[in-house]
Amino acid sequence: MSSQKGYIRKVIEIVKKRNPGELEFHQAVGEVLESLECVIVRHPEFADAALLERLVEPERQIVFRVPWQDDKGKVQVNRGFRVQFNSSIGPYKGGIRFHPSVYIGIIKFLGFEQILKNSLTGLMLGGGKGGADFDPKGKSDSEIMRFCQSFMNELYRHIGADTDVPAGDIGVGGREVGYMFGQWKKITKLFNGILTGKGFDFGGSLARPEATGYGTVYFCEEMLKSNNSSFAGKTVVISGSGNVAIYAHEKATQLGAKVVAMSDSQGYIYDSHGVNFETIKRLKEVERKRISEYVKEQTSAKYVEGSTEIWNIECDIALPCATQNELDENAAKTLVKNRCIAVAEGANMPSTPGAVNVFLKNKIFFGPGKAANAGGVATSGLEMAQDSQREQWTFDEVDNKLHTIMVNIHKSAKEAAEEYGTPGNLVNGANIAGFMKVARAMMAQGVV
Ligand code: NDP
Repeated sequence: MSSQKGYIRKVIEIVKKRNPGELEFHQAVGEVLESLECVIVRHPEFADAALLERLVEPERQIVFRVPWQDDKGKVQVNRGFRVQFNSSIGPYKGGIRFHPSVYIGIIKFLGFEQILKNSLTGLMLGGGKGGADFDPKGKSDSEIMRFCQSFMNELYRHIGADTDVPAGDIGVGGREVGYMFGQWKKITKLFNGILTGKGFDFGGSLARPEATGYGTVYFCEEMLKSNNSSFAGKTVVISGSGNVAIYAHEKATQLGAKVVAMSDSQGYIYDSHGVNFETIKRLKEVERKRISEYVKEQTSAKYVEGSTEIWNIECDIALPCATQNELDENAAKTLVKNRCIAVAEGANMPSTPGAVNVFLKNKIFFGPGKAANAGGVATSGLEMAQDSQREQWTFDEVDNKLHTIMVNIHKSAKEAAEEYGTPGNLVNGANIAGFMKVARAMMAQGVV
């Protein structure tokens, strides 16, 4: 066992040395590799083939200049990224993030997580991720369009329906995907599925906007079900108020729960009557306003500056759906103290390692992001299938497939956790189940 530990530690050290300062990437790799120790014990051939060393090194990293003109005619320059991490089980697939905090370490952490997440969906999807350190907040529609066009002026060289298919993420929704798709078509003269999350009128899938949030709730429902519980009558707190958070709200409410709090990066709202879905959806999705505006319309609610305190609110179920490391060890302890029973991560790596330990120690039903939020990429996979067939499926058809995929992801994570001696630990289970398929494919394909 100690030689396996030594191997894992060695690979983690290589990652730290080779990628200095990329803390989020180190964190994601550390969490995954530590849970793979029991797999390496059973499969010494993986170490012999330097499989982990290959897994943590992206196949390709593209960094590029994105120049664009703002509305005053001033030229601005941002930095764009696409990390094509692993293509052993399918074309690279993963979203594009526009946020000022984006740098190569964030893109690599997300791309690395994406490999195992995509594997868990059961679809043929490799792992990749992209983005830019561009802040869409406060930009006019024309500025957003010019930025997206300039971003695609370089990205188009690297993507394709059978090679790499990006989608949205933080700061990139239907509007941005539409502008990027338009520019791709202009440059290449091709009309095919090189992006997912497109508008329905030009090849998008119904239920793709809803998929990540719905999927997170479906996953959480499975965790609750296997413990004879459900969403009905439960109080839910959701961080964020973007794409994932909004549709997690909708599905949790449909299943009989009450969502009492939501947030944005500046503060949170608390509404003991339940956050009104139509109001929050219009304010954030259509009017693109701050969440503080909610209390002007719903007087039963209060607004509190600062988003991290949201975890002090008593709830049965917590759904972190905003961003990485937004829920720390202290917040986790508060949730436990307040008798929270389940946490499902709609966001990528929202819980710090300390928080995850608190959840596992206290036997909270904990759904890690790579499993719980895989519904988004799964439905992107379904969009790719529809594009290839030149067909569009009904909302219910897509939603039913999404539901089945989430049930299966929960099942494989649960079974892998049991098989490898850590029953109930879905962090280990998701990492192992996702890894095994990729590992088998990499072994079969030789040293490439
Ligand atoms: P959006 O840009 O639509 O929304 C992000 C939300 O999170 C906004 O409300 C934003 O507030 C808030 N937020 C950002 N930073 C913080 C912070 N530090 N504290 C509190 N709130 C914050 O992004 P998505 O909903 O698409 O993505 C949310 C998360 O889900 C990300 O981790 C993403 O990687 C993950 N994810 C998304 C998928 C998708 O299909 N979209 C798929 C799988 C995972 P503000 O407006 O103030 O910035």
